[in-house]
Amino acid sequence: MKIAVVGAGPAGCATTYTLRKNGHDVYLFDAQDQVGGRTSQMQREGFNLGTGALFLMGGIYPRTNAILKELGKYKELVPWDAKAHIIDRDQQRYTVEFDQVMSFLKLPVFSLGEKLSVAYGVLKQLFSPGPKSCFDGAELAKHDNGESLQAWSERVLGDKATRYITLPYMGFLYAVPLSSLSISLFQAVVQQFYKLSLSVPPKGMGQISDWLIEGSQGVHLSLSSRVESVCRKGARYVVTTQGREVEVDAVVLASEPGVSADLLQGLAPNSACESLRNCTYSEYAHVQVCYKQNPWPDFPVSLALPGNQVKTWGACVLQSRRHPGAVPPGGEAVGVYFYTPPLKGMSEEDIKREALMAVTEVFGSAPEPSFVEVFYYKRGLSIAVPGHYAKMDSVHQQMPKGIYLAGDYFAHAGVEAAILSGELAANRLVRDLS
Ligand SMILES: Cc1cc2nc3c(=O)[nH]c(=O)nc-3n(C[C@H](O)[C@H](O)[C@H](O)COP(=O)(O)OP(=O)(O)OC[C@H]3O[C@@H](n4cnc5c(N)ncnc54)[C@H](O)[C@@H]3O)c2cc1C
Repeated sequence: MKIAVVGAGPAGCATTYTLRKNGHDVYLFDAQDQVGGRTSQMQREGFNLGTGALFLMGGIYPRTNAILKELGKYKELVPWDAKAHIIDRDQQRYTVEFDQVMSFLKLPVFSLGEKLSVAYGVLKQLFSPGPKSCFDGAELAKHDNGESLQAWSERVLGDKATRYITLPYMGFLYAVPLSSLSISLFQAVVQQFYKLSLSVPPKGMGQISDWLIEGSQGVHLSLSSRVESVCRKGARYVVTTQGREVEVDAVVLASEPGVSADLLQGLAPNSACESLRNCTYSEYAHVQVCYKQNPWPDFPVSLALPGNQVKTWGACVLQSRRHPGAVPPGGEAVGVYFYTPPLKGMSEEDIKREALMAVTEVFGSAPEPSFVEVFYYKRGLSIAVPGHYAKMDSVHQQMPKGIYLAGDYFAHAGVEAAILSGELAANRLVRDLS
């Protein structure tokens, strides 16, 4: 069968890989001049900067791991030892391991009674029937009871643990207030905390999509090819990109949901298009402050997170520690990842200035950076508000015959969500066509 895949981020690349494994003829289109979407890399003056994603999360990314093993690439992943400073409102710093949620309990701000109470809350969650997968929307929907993460965390873990554990943790991952998140993902992370470990491919996160394409021998890949329309032609579809038409048996839309809604106009019910358009996204910005000469070669941790407070930034990362290939020899880049609400009304100059202030506050003074690069997304991270998963899951059933959807937005933003959604779309298609 001849199949078009729209979007070559991790979701579209995983769809393509799975369809090629099943022997289908795949035409993959992306509007950008490289694959990877929000995981792609940008080269500048010897730096290899991630435009978006930072790391894989070990055992809680099972489908990503399985595919990387199939491709013989899993062993190439480079572990990131994400030792972190939690910076308190009074500037006091506490050291934790970001990939060991329980290490946050060692913070001296917790009394013995509070530690026991949080440990009891975690244990109770561990033994309750929670989501089995952190990024499977259908599975997460079963446990999304409408409560917000803020309310759940305060109720189960207490106020202090919410400010010193849940807030810095989810602030780094999703950079939005806890009141706008559903509970399911965090519950799944708490239940699987022992599986967490962080890693990055040697050439950066963009390499995951490169590997998937390498493993999809025979794919017809068209870059710099924005798909403008998808139209029905009898039982088939015609995909149009810059005047070129490709007739196919089925289409997988692995683009951002608003784009998919536009392409589906007239093909799918309006209610499905509306659900896709209304999918919640956060505005997101991060700034890479780049130094050819590392001003802090011996800094004791690689990551800083604000605890007990919401600042303009949610995390500061020393990129050479996360991904050694990110910087030229002897160099350093600090990634300043912004919290979402303060971005409203901030100009690019404001964002740069705030980033430089954050760098000085966290790591100490430094000479002028070699350059500063701002990455700004109007729709950065797909956010699962309470009720999100079930709503998104129901959209699959509303697709016309021969059209399938993939993208991280079926769960929370994350490479695992994207890869899993791509595999599921390809598997549905293969099942329907056989
Ligand atoms: C700053 C930032 C940090 C992040 N950190 C992490 C992290 O540490 N770990 C993690 O797992 N995830 C992280 N993520 C999330 C991760 O990047 C996404 O979950 C993942 O990229 C989603 O993959 P996707 O394929 O669904 O979408 P995307 O990566 O957005 O890919 C969609 C693709 O569709 C293409 N497209 C859109 N419209 C069209 C069209 N009309 N025609 C053709 N092509 C089109 C786009 O060009 C794009 O390449 C981060 C994201 C950001 C922004």
